[in-house]
Amino acid sequence: MPETPTQHASARLLAIVSVDPSRRVICQEPGCGHGVYAAIHVVQDKENLLVLGSTCFAKRYGGASALGMPAYSAGSGGGSHLTEEERMALVTNTAELIAQFKARHEAVMAAANAKLLALRQRMQQQAQATKALFSRAPTRPAIQPPADHPWPWQHPNNTSVAVVRGPDSQCWVRVMHRSGTQMLAPWPAFDGWDETFPPSIGQPDQQLQAYAVPNIVAALQWLRQRGYEAPQVSRWPEVRKLLPDPV
Ligand SMILES: [Zn+2]
Repeated sequence: MPETPTQHASARLLAIVSVDPSRRVICQEPGCGHGVYAAIHVVQDKENLLVLGSTCFAKRYGGASALGMPAYSAGSGGGSHLTEEERMALVTNTAELIAQFKARHEAVMAAANAKLLALRQRMQQQAQATKALFSRAPTRPAIQPPADHPWPWQHPNNTSVAVVRGPDSQCWVRVMHRSGTQMLAPWPAFDGWDETFPPSIGQPDQQLQAYAVPNIVAALQWLRQRGYEAPQVSRWPEVRKLLPDPV
């Protein structure tokens, strides 16, 4: 004998919910009409959505767990207490409430699957790292040594730099400071570098020997309008090849 009686093969328990005892809903089992609140069963029975008390559910389907777990148990359909709004939806538009539960259930399951996948990947990576650690083959160091570049204050992750060549062939390098501020540093440095740009572009920082530029997009536009070339974006040391050798 199958666990689910054949006469109920098309019945599917969608959700079990509860409401305040003072806000009971009417059991829809024909001939019942009792107010129910503690374990309200919502069942898709052929083409009907039924709201049933637990007693009528058990009688109708042959046991409290005859239809297994609610289909949307992860979407508030696994015994959650309904808000007044949800209670109203249960009474007036059960399909709409169930659609909400279904969407929530699927979102929760998708998030859980993604978490599981990430966890599996991390475990695989750890296993590989452990294997590498104990293998006798020489391994590359996991952390690359810091790039040998002229800006000790450069942002550790945002290492993209750009070269802008001026109409007088003077180069400027756009480097992000570790604070996140974009800087324009003269290359090579020269006396009076700090008098090149107006305050609207940036403030010269004597310690860093570079302009702090709050709006790099506007600054680069300003430079383009004054005959500077388009920035050539790369990373150190590739950018070094674009720059003249210091005299
Ligand atoms: Zn009933």
